[in-house]
Amino acid sequence: MRKTGFVWNELYMWHDTGHYAGVLQPDPAAFIEPDEHSENPKTKRRFKNLLDATGFIRELETIDARPATGEEVLRIHGSAYIERLKGLSREGGGEAGRSTPFGKGGYDIALLSAGGCLAMAEAIMSGKVDNGYVLNRPPGHHATRDEAMGFCLLANGSITASALIKDHGLSRVAIVDWDVHHGNGAEGIFWEDPSVLTLSIHQDNCFPPNSGPVDAIGEGAGKGFNVNVPVPPGSGKGAYMAAFERVILPALRAYRPEFIIVASGFDGAGHDPLGRNMLYSAVYGDMTRMLMPVADELCGGRIMMTHEGGYSPSIVPYCGLRVLEALSEKQSGVADPFEFALAHVGYQDLQVHQDAVITKAEEVVKLLQDACR
Ligand code: ZN
Repeated sequence: MRKTGFVWNELYMWHDTGHYAGVLQPDPAAFIEPDEHSENPKTKRRFKNLLDATGFIRELETIDARPATGEEVLRIHGSAYIERLKGLSREGGGEAGRSTPFGKGGYDIALLSAGGCLAMAEAIMSGKVDNGYVLNRPPGHHATRDEAMGFCLLANGSITASALIKDHGLSRVAIVDWDVHHGNGAEGIFWEDPSVLTLSIHQDNCFPPNSGPVDAIGEGAGKGFNVNVPVPPGSGKGAYMAAFERVILPALRAYRPEFIIVASGFDGAGHDPLGRNMLYSAVYGDMTRMLMPVADELCGGRIMMTHEGGYSPSIVPYCGLRVLEALSEKQSGVADPFEFALAHVGYQDLQVHQDAVITKAEEVVKLLQDACR
């Protein structure tokens, strides 16, 4: 059994995304009724509530979040962008960039979200815990150096990777992004930097539009160190398992990271309103259990998850529970009431058109293997 850390902070739930009714500003004159924003506290709170109600929270080691410092943030983000966020945050919030509304004080919550990841990385590096999950908000994997995007203000995973290199003396960190949307933030931030391997498995051409093709492999010194697996909509367990076996795990073994960060979105699940893939909770447990032996083999088991998307209030809590069971090697004994129905829909097996994409991504892994020789 492992000692698994867990970061949660009530203030994460107070990040206010307003009443945007999905992607549009509500406008009664245009007959758009105000509603909750897609990225609201509900899925995250229900995930935490499930841990509390089942008692599984007692199997985890609480790690306190701290705010990220200006220095830690400015290694990744441009100062003009950060100054703009700070100003907006002070003045009551607004639109931080592309589709990223936030409320008064939202910048401080974003610092605490990135800092939750930093605190977890510190706890793992010091040996206080073996691995961990950061159930933070706002998410981070779409934020670029100079722009908020897709509900993400600060690039939580990238800020953490950079801290591991600058402050903890590591030279190779891998980011594995299994959110159903492309991990464009880390891809762009480390595009020419081989010290961070960026791997993203996502629904092809979903969000951001036209982002994350298989032939985007990095440039300059970073060429070969970005691997995308853009699986077609409708991909289920078979496609994800094949992508892990044939692309993600071989890429990690070639690169030999000293720490693995997972951008853990649960919007690849079958009930998600913002994705069109068909995963279910057990598959997230399986993917975690596939990464852990590789982490053991390469980096002393050092792996942490930072929470990203996942917009189905019913299924996200169970996906999270399965990941935590896998990380801690403990069982909650709690059944997922949605698993049977999702696992037994058709086309969960690897399909020919999905196999073709994975075959293309295997070619990119060969480039990476050559670059690492
Ligand atoms: Zn997502």
